[in-house]
Amino acid sequence: MRTLDDLDVDGKRVLVRVDFNVPLDGEQHITDDARIRAALPTLRELREKNARLVLAAHLGRPKDREPEFSLRPVAERLSELLGADVELAESLDDVPDGDLVMLENVRYEKGETKNDPELAKRYAALADVYVNDAFGAAHRAHASTEAVARLLPSAAGRLLEREVTTLRGILDDPKRPLVAVVGGAKVTDKIGVLEAFLERADAILIGGAMCFPFFKAQGHDIGDSLCEQDGIEPARKLAGQDKIALPEDLVAGREFKADTERRELDGIDVPDGWMGLDVGAATAERYAGVIAQAGTVFWNGPMGAFELEPFAAGTRRVAEAIAAAPGTTVVGGGDSAAALAEFGLDDDVDHVSTGGGASLELLELGDLPGLAALREAAARA
Ligand code: ADP
Ligand code: MG
Repeated sequence: MRTLDDLDVDGKRVLVRVDFNVPLDGEQHITDDARIRAALPTLRELREKNARLVLAAHLGRPKDREPEFSLRPVAERLSELLGADVELAESLDDVPDGDLVMLENVRYEKGETKNDPELAKRYAALADVYVNDAFGAAHRAHASTEAVARLLPSAAGRLLEREVTTLRGILDDPKRPLVAVVGGAKVTDKIGVLEAFLERADAILIGGAMCFPFFKAQGHDIGDSLCEQDGIEPARKLAGQDKIALPEDLVAGREFKADTERRELDGIDVPDGWMGLDVGAATAERYAGVIAQAGTVFWNGPMGAFELEPFAAGTRRVAEAIAAAPGTTVVGGGDSAAALAEFGLDDDVDHVSTGGGASLELLELGDLPGLAALREAAARA
């Protein structure tokens, strides 16, 4: 993979694809600017090397050019962080010739998500060189992440470089034992990564709503627990593997809310009228012990409904164990990262990925469309 070290950007116009897909509140205020800050090393380095920047990013999933998906608040925040004016280009037909320009939401363009080559040509016409630093969008083959990379001298930015090096390191040469901790709610999205870890990891610790397809497949009562139907058959195939560790106790609630009735279950059968909302103390302790012995830990998905304080203990215990672990620790997934931050532990892990879906897809398939396009562009150069 080519990096900023391999590109001549002096005096050049550089189109930089960044991941500025930040959360906004109802009044267009950014509630978490971590993704903008994560791109700063690349942007600062390029500016120090005398490059003129045209930034491209998406925000949300606009259907048309709805103003609530405008990148204006992002441009303003970036201006503050860089201490320089960011000019927002409303239209691709009228892009200012400045040193620091940001295109409007690329998903305002019809062809963006279709990877339209004509749109990619219009992007390419704006610059001499292309840099992709949008790890969080690299699993999408879109015009600004894929097709355009083939049209200009291209390279990865520093964030993309670090994400890929770290995650590929888990696949290619992990310090052992390699322990994967997988939880959360998006079960079917994560089956593929479980299968990938089955080949590579030494232990896979399952928590969150991820455990219920396994328990259902094993014939346990799961009460009203969240259980993705499409996860049950794949879980049945994985359940017998001795690398896979499942909870031995659970904490249940009547409803998904903080002030609901709460019950610690001495086992994993969830009675009717209850839902499993956290792993129990014995499970969390056992998982913490495995994590402490690990050479490498990859964590994706909270152990329970950590947003609700009565059901946060399992996630907190596992997060603390990961933060304290002597091994290499990598966290992927938006909610897992949010949990770490809430517990004040985000500085105590080696790497927090900026791409939930992208990190899972890279671990599952070993490659991403955005990376393949950069490699092919480099091979031709
Ligand atoms: P990530 O973003 O880290 O990949 P997910 O998006 O898959 O994680 O899942 C996060 C969500 O899973 C959280 O909102 C959490 O409340 C929910 N969750 C975890 N365990 C349970 C459970 N047992 N029942 C219901 N929801 C759960
Ligand atoms: Mg999530």
